[in-house]
Amino acid sequence: MLKGKIDKKIRIIFLGNMIALGFCLALVLTKGPDMPNNQVIYYILAMMIYGVLLAFPIRKHSIFGMSSFIGTVTSLGYLYWHTPDFMAMVLFYFYAAQIGLQYSPKYSLLGAMFVASTYFSISMSQVELIEKNGLSIYMHSLLIINMNVLVQHLSQLERRALSQSEKINQLLSQMECSYKMVSSLAEKDELTTLYNYRYFRQKLNEMRPNNIAILLLDVDYFKVFNDSYGHLCGDAVLRDMATVLKNSLREKDMVFRYGGEEFAVILPCSNEQEVQTAALRISNNIEEYSFRYGNETSLHVTVSIGYAIGNEKIKNTEELFKIADVALYNAKDKGRNLIGCPNGEIYNPILTPLLNVM
Ligand code: GH3
Ligand code: MG
Ligand code: MG
Repeated sequence: MLKGKIDKKIRIIFLGNMIALGFCLALVLTKGPDMPNNQVIYYILAMMIYGVLLAFPIRKHSIFGMSSFIGTVTSLGYLYWHTPDFMAMVLFYFYAAQIGLQYSPKYSLLGAMFVASTYFSISMSQVELIEKNGLSIYMHSLLIINMNVLVQHLSQLERRALSQSEKINQLLSQMECSYKMVSSLAEKDELTTLYNYRYFRQKLNEMRPNNIAILLLDVDYFKVFNDSYGHLCGDAVLRDMATVLKNSLREKDMVFRYGGEEFAVILPCSNEQEVQTAALRISNNIEEYSFRYGNETSLHVTVSIGYAIGNEKIKNTEELFKIADVALYNAKDKGRNLIGCPNGEIYNPILTPLLNVM
């Protein structure tokens, strides 16, 4: 964007100079036939050198630009001594100096003052020429002033655009941070930092029941636990339970806090054995884990689990969820710390392998 602005600035200045030079050329060409006209070639040469100078912004390509600038100034200096149209050549020289200086805003004002004072002293010493070429000198001086104003204005605009774009970038990154924070708050549960109920529902809506399994977990007798150790201790247990759950599952499995002391897991898997193994791993890990809070260093809780596995008969994830919910209630009914299967039975890790063999 900025590069485009600089290019535009250079194009405008180039156009301004071309107009000025065209004007000078017209003045020379319209001179009377009795007057010498051999400086036309110098004007054309000067135009070409300007073109080269303006094509390479000094600030961006310092070595190339500086040599181009020095070349221009030297050539114009040469022309200054060899053309009879003395004043016009001096003015060209000023243009070159000014265009060179405009690339360094710091010296731009100094350059303009230098141009003005030199122009003034030369004009004073060339009264005859001023009378002769009055219009030309007048137009040139106007152009010099205009160009300086234009350059100042453009660099001011550029600076303003720069600071505005910096501010916009700052605001954008602030907005991005806020958006990330808000969307993480919308998805995550504050206590456990697991995905929350809302996100669980969203995921269920997005997913198809095939190839996924849902586990629903409910902490057993948690009311009694709270009554015995206090709610703060209960909170600490729920927080640590989230870690135990995540550590019992794979990266691709999603764990949610469904409600108070209830959790849900979505497994991208439809193999019953794998699902049962995951449920058993969770159940064992929680049962064996020693939760701690304050002076209490060996607190134990258990969970009841119900699971459901997607297949072609299940129409949507809501139906899948209901099957897992019924299985969970079944596990509670049958005594707690159990894993309820979708067929209404209780998963027995000792019996199931034997049944599979039979
Ligand atoms: P059950 O084995 O039938 O699940 O018994 P339960 O006591 O776990 O179930 P019940 O539904 O009767 O009670 C749930 C308890 O979970 C009651 C509530 O105090 C507790 N609970 C729910 N959310 C939180 C929480 O965020 N922090 C704490 N500390 N306790 C919670
Ligand atoms: Mg409950
Ligand atoms: Mg409970």
